[in-house]
Amino acid sequence: MEKFIRTVLGDIAPEELGVTDCHDHLIRSGGIEVREHKDFLMDSVDAGKYEFQDWLNNGGKSMVCCDPIGCGRDVPKMLEIAESFKGKGNIIMVTGFHKGHFYDERTSFLAVVPTDKVVEMCVKEITEGMDKYSYCGPVVERTKAKAGVVKAGTGYAVISPFERKGLEVAAKTSLATGCPIVVHTQLGTMAYEAAKILLDFGVKPDRIALSHLNKNPDKYYYKKILDLGVFINFDGPDRVKYYADSVLADNLKWLLDQDPKYANQILLAMDAGRCFYQIGYSKERGDKTALGISYLLNRFVPLLKEVGIKDDAINKFLVENPKKWLTFSK
Ligand SMILES: [Zn+2]
Repeated sequence: MEKFIRTVLGDIAPEELGVTDCHDHLIRSGGIEVREHKDFLMDSVDAGKYEFQDWLNNGGKSMVCCDPIGCGRDVPKMLEIAESFKGKGNIIMVTGFHKGHFYDERTSFLAVVPTDKVVEMCVKEITEGMDKYSYCGPVVERTKAKAGVVKAGTGYAVISPFERKGLEVAAKTSLATGCPIVVHTQLGTMAYEAAKILLDFGVKPDRIALSHLNKNPDKYYYKKILDLGVFINFDGPDRVKYYADSVLADNLKWLLDQDPKYANQILLAMDAGRCFYQIGYSKERGDKTALGISYLLNRFVPLLKEVGIKDDAINKFLVENPKKWLTFSK
């Protein structure tokens, strides 16, 4: 296949991608987050299936699940979910690492192994198959599921040496394979700096997506970042504890008013990485109604229209830009 996007079940033509949530979670079997709060434990295949079906029912087609090595990534469970939607929807998984806080920054895998060897391990997850055990120990057993994105993470207003190494690994993995890169930024800080580090390694701007910028609702900052040519992944409507949805909607409208070309660099997602954000997990726990990942399509998209953003731009956010970002390109 000449141009391709790498899903858990194999490569697809970019045209098969459709409406895409560029940063989400269906399964998280453990990791530091879970120790911090039990609501981060998302280990039910049935709940994951329920949520993904709901995404499809509301017009969605694909989802990038952003759990990296050492953060509860569970390849067998994700494969089980993906298999049950074969031919109906696409799931893409990531290799790479999260922010330093989720690891021991002195003794963990990324900390102690030389950079080039870590890059080799990440490249293999993309070209040969993700490790069944997500590199939690010396035994490696490759599954048929390959990663389609490499992740890196940065901290709140700081990029530690460990995180800088994670960015280098992501850059070199992308340069070797052409894969896209997703960066976790803490509350939207250090996004410009993280992008600059990746670009300085020679990564092309259209490989890079910066996540969680909605948590730093500074439209001038967005503009400065977009002028680097990278994607911003606005992944979190339905998070009123941070900001009302209208703050993000108005900022997006403002950006397009500044320059309509910014429409080509915006991605959307829900990042519903806690049980109580999702319908499937909430039902399983007998909780009250959650709004779920489909909120992005059935509530946030109508708001974008209400603030005056045209269908053409919304189609770019949901279909065309994810397609460009996720298509492997060297
Ligand atoms: Zn996330």
